[in-house]
Amino acid sequence: MAGEKILVVEDNEVNRELVVDLLKIAGYLVLVAGTAEEGLQKAKEEPPDLILMDIGLPGMDGLTATRILKQAPETAHIAVVALTSFAMKGDAERVKEAGCSGYLTKPIDTRTFAQTVASFMVGTSKGNRIGGE
Ligand code: MN
Repeated sequence: MAGEKILVVEDNEVNRELVVDLLKIAGYLVLVAGTAEEGLQKAKEEPPDLILMDIGLPGMDGLTATRILKQAPETAHIAVVALTSFAMKGDAERVKEAGCSGYLTKPIDTRTFAQTVASFMVGTSKGNRIGGE
């Protein structure tokens, strides 16, 4: 961990606090947003190395926000990992189509969370990583 910056977009306060705590303990710099709109603004203002994007958000959903990030030249390079509470068949495909590098399912597994996030950060094939890039 070398202090990479991670933006957490999550509307559920309990989940958000948990994720933020786990990331800080692992040595990351953490930015937070409670809505997709706020997340898009922060991603533009202070581009992070990785975005953890909740799919179910009030207003704009996380997949729509990811598409917007991937279409904007200034944010297209930022890896986006979806946070999804419904690991249903077809989700992986939807998440991939939106431009996410992969996804993490909720509830968060506190024992493996930081390691899985790190795997997306360094581009290894751990976690629920989708396809080749
Ligand atoms: Mn949510």
